[in-house]
Amino acid sequence: MSETVRAVLAIGGNLGKRRKTIRSGLKALAATKGISGVICSPLVESAAVTPDGVDETKPAYLNGVVQIETTLKPKELLTEIRRIETEHGRIRLERWGSRTLDIDIITYGDTIKSGKELTVPHPRAFERAFVLVPWSMLDPQAVLPGYGSVAALADELKDQVWLAK
Ligand code: ATP
Ligand code: CA
Ligand code: CA
Repeated sequence: MSETVRAVLAIGGNLGKRRKTIRSGLKALAATKGISGVICSPLVESAAVTPDGVDETKPAYLNGVVQIETTLKPKELLTEIRRIETEHGRIRLERWGSRTLDIDIITYGDTIKSGKELTVPHPRAFERAFVLVPWSMLDPQAVLPGYGSVAALADELKDQVWLAK
């Protein structure tokens, strides 16, 4: 038996029926061998961000943070996530382009690794309100390795997101 690790994922999208897609993505995660204990945060909305900055002409994002228990290794988890994204119509055209479903690995236990395919903790999580705010709602005690209290980080950026209706 492999050991069970707690991982934190970010889930979201800005195309199609966003809430329905996220719900279906959560179901797909829960149905994946080696993943259990799927718990999702409240969902938040935020304006689309492209490499050029905020783009109000693009549809707004709906995002949440998901805690899971997993026996999958980090790369195996990434493979399953890519499969679930593809099954939900994810197409990669441009960096930070609009998408139906994006799932990122925010943390994998207390693992710190930087690789070509996978970096954990996610290198941009510390500056993303749409990750930090829902994460702090799910787990007020959460710590982002290398950066500290998620709730404190979220507090600085909370004006950039709003609670989804
Ligand atoms: P961002 O990573 O800034 O949120 P994105 O989610 O739009 O951007 P993608 O096109 O979904 O980027 O991912 C590109 C690649 O990033 C993935 O195929 C994967 O190999 C790599 N990657 C590196 N670290 C991670 C991580 N922690 N979680 C998910 N993918 C990662
Ligand atoms: Ca992402
Ligand atoms: Ca991604």
